[in-house]
Amino acid sequence: MTEEDRSIFSRIIDREIPARIVAETETIIAFHDVAPQAPVHVLVVPKTAQYVTVNELAAADPGLLAEMVKMAQSLADDLAQGDYRLVFNSGASAGQTVFHVHAHVLAGALEEGTLAG
Ligand code: AMP
Repeated sequence: MTEEDRSIFSRIIDREIPARIVAETETIIAFHDVAPQAPVHVLVVPKTAQYVTVNELAAADPGLLAEMVKMAQSLADDLAQGDYRLVFNSGASAGQTVFHVHAHVLAGALEEGTLAG
């Protein structure tokens, strides 16, 4: 993979650009979305850049997907009241802009017309 092909999330994982990191394991990182669309808006991102969509991830590594869901719950417990929405945009026409699979964890009162509204 060339330098130009690396996603912005790979650069965050490698500490090349800053992010407000809230949780990290050997396989996953979570950080605040730079343009939050809810009072709590955190991205949960597998460290591997191998998968673009949640479908690819689910087919190839369901255990890693389950780890992401577990982290989402833990973040919602810590940062909100435990309830949350989990959004995976899959494909450009569905709003995906970063082609490195990631989950949006949204909690709190959501604005009308947001990606999760
Ligand atoms: P998606 O549109 O589902 O691909 O989501 C990509 C998300 O990444 C958007 O909600 C962006 O606001 C967010 N984002 C882009 N660049 C950064 C960054 N440097 N730090 C944190 N979040 C980012």
